[in-house]
Amino acid sequence: MIPLTDTTVRASFINASRKEVADLTLPADFEAIEWDRLDLLGWRDPKLGRRSYAVIPTLEGGLLGLLFRHPGSRPRTRAQCSWCNDATLPNDVVLYNAKRSGKAGKNGDTLSSLICEDFQCSANARRPPKTWYEGFDVEEARQVQIAELQLRSAAFATQV
Ligand SMILES: [Zn+2]
Repeated sequence: MIPLTDTTVRASFINASRKEVADLTLPADFEAIEWDRLDLLGWRDPKLGRRSYAVIPTLEGGLLGLLFRHPGSRPRTRAQCSWCNDATLPNDVVLYNAKRSGKAGKNGDTLSSLICEDFQCSANARRPPKTWYEGFDVEEARQVQIAELQLRSAAFATQV
């Protein structure tokens, strides 16, 4: 994804109040992020532990920033992430809640999804998939995984 700045991150939110955006803390390693290895930027607020954020590029070249809350459920070890869709995850998956944007959100409408605990989706999609048969094109399958992650995360963000 294209590198983000503090300003572009904060300007991208579609389901957070001005105060929530002002209160957010960027990831500690923000300056060191390798943007070309990410399809989306997701992180847990270092100060407000129950809040997480994801900034997701859309297919049209826009950015959709989402604020998530943890409903307090325990992390699930044997679950599939709905974004990277990886069935052999090296990490836990957590149910994330996003308030819908606009009027729906004001009425208390939310969207939930099982997502990698620390938004490790970009790294997971870049892992070489299993070689299913002789001559299986691992690199091509990896590119498909990455493209599908971009589609699924952007579709979720658009729904919010
Ligand atoms: Zn994932």
